[in-house]
Amino acid sequence: MLPAVEEPLVTRMRRFGETIFAEMSQLAADHGAINLGQGFPDTDGPRSLLDGATRRIQEGVNQYPPGPGRSELRGAVAEERQRLHGLSYDPDGEVYVTVGATAGIASAVLGLVEPGDEVVLLEPMYDSYAGAIALAGATRRPVALRPDPADGNRFTFDPDELRAAVGPRTRMVIVNTPHNPTGTVLTPAELETIADVCRRNDLIALTDEVYEHLTFDGVAHTPLASLPGMRERTLSLSSAGKTFSVTAWKTGWATGPRPLIRAMQTVNQFLTFTANGALQLAVADALREETGWVRQQREALESKRDRLSEGLRAAGFTVLRPHGTYFLMADIRPLGYTDGIEFARELPRSAGVAAVPAQVLYDNPDEGRHLVRFAFCKRDEVLDAAVERLANHTG
Ligand SMILES: *Cc1c(COP(=O)(O)O)cnc(C)c1O
Repeated sequence: MLPAVEEPLVTRMRRFGETIFAEMSQLAADHGAINLGQGFPDTDGPRSLLDGATRRIQEGVNQYPPGPGRSELRGAVAEERQRLHGLSYDPDGEVYVTVGATAGIASAVLGLVEPGDEVVLLEPMYDSYAGAIALAGATRRPVALRPDPADGNRFTFDPDELRAAVGPRTRMVIVNTPHNPTGTVLTPAELETIADVCRRNDLIALTDEVYEHLTFDGVAHTPLASLPGMRERTLSLSSAGKTFSVTAWKTGWATGPRPLIRAMQTVNQFLTFTANGALQLAVADALREETGWVRQQREALESKRDRLSEGLRAAGFTVLRPHGTYFLMADIRPLGYTDGIEFARELPRSAGVAAVPAQVLYDNPDEGRHLVRFAFCKRDEVLDAAVERLANHTG
């Protein structure tokens, strides 16, 4: 029986209640709103991928795969890093399969960061970083991404703020590019600034590249590990979920030098031990054979970005143009609002659309109080309907 305590949750996790995503989705459901808050696509991934998984299950690929993952997937991941970025990793020891990037983030932070250490990261931030850092008993040192009016409102960071965030207890920098929720794709120059900080302070870099294939306007994703002196200190995470529109599959992977992979594996073997084998085989095939599908997906998302951006602008928002991911940030101040939480709580009822207030993704909520995040990974007719509702609401 549980001890009769008022709050059984461990102290270090108490600031994490129900996420705002759950609250907004519930509000969307309650009011029959179009949900542009949650970031998952409303169409399926490539047919061959879906068929590949069901075929493997029928064929009996249903028992524990090896802890580091199926060799077919580890090989396909290594091949892709080589083909796209000239990075070479040994599939045996430098590639490790995880239950989505989320389990990779948690096991990497838990395996590499001591209690009391500090982790530098960009904010707004994907919420699982804060959770993993808290689980590790470490401290976050956020560096704000802000829109640069001189560069079409593209979000960027101040190099001096990054350098100032690093102290004697800093162990790791977490870099998410393409970045959720701002849609920023870090440039080689910005990555070099981060690399320089890592090399000078002997830091480990953990990169979250789950949107690596979803970039627009000809902007290319550059892995931090491809910069001079970075391969040996960088653990790079990616996943099939966003690339192939199968967010439920939770099939991810890490690439990095052996000592970093070993640290992560030592923890991960006790968290998930291994990841679904049938899905791994299907993803391995898709990484090699569905590059055309991914290109089309990227083009479709670019046009959806434009579709939603134009609609939001017409409805009175200031839209901050993203170059990657399937999210965009919109400024609500032109509509006469200043608080994103208040705005987002009202919107499902008043307009029949749901969005996510960005401030919950910041340690310094004032940085993002006036911003809400919309997802555009939805069918065109869904985006059009949402835009029409918003125009009626605000116009
Ligand atoms: C969706 C997402 C993830 C989670 O990926 P999974 O493979 O589903 O665990 C990680 N990082 C970012 C930035 C994401 O948006």
